[in-house]
Amino acid sequence: MQGLMMQQPLLVASLLMHAERHHGKQEIVSRRVEGDIHRYSYRDLAQRARRMANALTSLGVRPGERVGTLAWNGYRHMELYFAVSGSGSVLHTLNPRLHVDQLAYIIEHAEDRVVFFDLTFLPLIESVAPRVKSPKVFVAMTDRAHMPQEHGLSTMLLCYEDLIDLHDDEFDWPLVDENSASSLCYTSGTTGNPKGVLYSHRSTVLHTYAAALPDSLNCSARDVILPVVPMFHVNAWGLPYISCMVGAKLVFPGPALDGKSLYELIETEQVTLSAGVPTVWQGLLAHVDAIEGAFSSMRRTIIGGAPCPTAMTAAFQERYQVDVLHAWGMTELSPVGTVCSFKAHQLSLPTDERYAIQAKQGRAVFGIDMKIVGPDGEELPWDGHAAGDLLVRGPWVVRQYFGSSDTSHLRDGWFPTGDVAKIDADGFMQITDRSKDVIKSGGEWISSTDIENVACLHPEVTTAVCIAARHPKWDERPLLLIVRKPGSALAAEELLGFFDGRVARWWKPDAVVFVDTVPLGATGKVLKNLLRDQFGDYYLTA
Ligand code: AMP
Repeated sequence: MQGLMMQQPLLVASLLMHAERHHGKQEIVSRRVEGDIHRYSYRDLAQRARRMANALTSLGVRPGERVGTLAWNGYRHMELYFAVSGSGSVLHTLNPRLHVDQLAYIIEHAEDRVVFFDLTFLPLIESVAPRVKSPKVFVAMTDRAHMPQEHGLSTMLLCYEDLIDLHDDEFDWPLVDENSASSLCYTSGTTGNPKGVLYSHRSTVLHTYAAALPDSLNCSARDVILPVVPMFHVNAWGLPYISCMVGAKLVFPGPALDGKSLYELIETEQVTLSAGVPTVWQGLLAHVDAIEGAFSSMRRTIIGGAPCPTAMTAAFQERYQVDVLHAWGMTELSPVGTVCSFKAHQLSLPTDERYAIQAKQGRAVFGIDMKIVGPDGEELPWDGHAAGDLLVRGPWVVRQYFGSSDTSHLRDGWFPTGDVAKIDADGFMQITDRSKDVIKSGGEWISSTDIENVACLHPEVTTAVCIAARHPKWDERPLLLIVRKPGSALAAEELLGFFDGRVARWWKPDAVVFVDTVPLGATGKVLKNLLRDQFGDYYLTA
């Protein structure tokens, strides 16, 4: 039967069109890589995004093809968000913190046609370019005056502002299928090679609606939003899209993520809402504490990507009157899954009970179904005690990874998050452990398998096991447990030196513990949970 309602596809470009029409004068402020502050309006954003869409067409980028970005949070990156996805191509945000080998793997795997990069990343691009076949064109996201005079690229290097100047701003955003791909983000959140999560226009727009709600990230036209969470990490938790939908003023920090720079930006631009991982907020709080400052406009901060310690919640709320919204999500969930906002009956609870609630990752936003299951897959009760594997499903949850038709990781249609959690009677989920074998340091992943593989290349190592150990600054850091070859006197410093150049610098474990044996399970697998129990507090007690 013919539907009674109109069939309007849910498209990323429609978010920009809405922002231009209804919030055209609203500001977007960016700290630039060039060092200065840039400001313009949503109207300018839309106009330049159309110019860039024409530029992409003239570069031969076709619908469905991937366009890479290696960039900080800023207005040019925002333009690419809409120019690329809006014109039917796929925005592939690359994480500059990855090792050059991983970046090369990801660019090749995604077959990026063009890669745009901020000037900061020229050396990285120069290292990656000889290792990849796919992009024939690189674009430096700057103007002619700042273009590098010399560079080591043998492929074509274009200037972003030249492309903008050369192209017309007449461009009709195509009515693509809402289920077609709009953006791509790789995650190394599981073992093995990084995997791509391919978001669709539909999943992105639905996620935007749900994430903007008052009990989710709570965004409105009256907000001034500072996304510190990178635009290369799950689309800055969707905030670029949300800001267009609600018409909020946007403030982008560029490369300056230290406490002092963030504080100055928050105060001068009168930010009301910010978002980032706990590690970034530690730096901000340390600065504001040191100068005995205060927040004159910031009223809320979204903290996620890693557990938010109660001390941090208390510092924001009691010292600075900034409410903390603790949130949980994953690259595979676009990313928002749960947000910890109070229900009415919780508001009058004693302070310590409210802090206990805020330590939880929160309740599911509409669109996300979640459950916890025991070892045999049986569903566990929401009693606040039983802990099991956390499974989710919903219209913005990944089904299969990019370039793969394998769905065997799903369990009866549910996505296993790799997190272990309990859920209370009010529906508040709390992560208690992680079943996936990875380390999350300062909000970014480190692959324990990669670390172990490097250690095993050393001739004096018999067995190498890398675990996540809790860390006061980075939440987690890799700790290496090593069984040496008989008679070896291999020292920790020598083994750690062996990692130089083989992994990204921040992946290098902070310490090595030499052990005689490691515990093995029935199938010969290392029982890492036992090692985590034994050594998990190593950096807290060392
Ligand atoms: P990513 O895909 O990089 O966003 O990482 C997602 C993973 O980060 C989750 O599966 C959790 O293991 C972890 N994570 C995200 N948010 C939180 C949080 N609020 N508390 C604890 N762990 C979190």
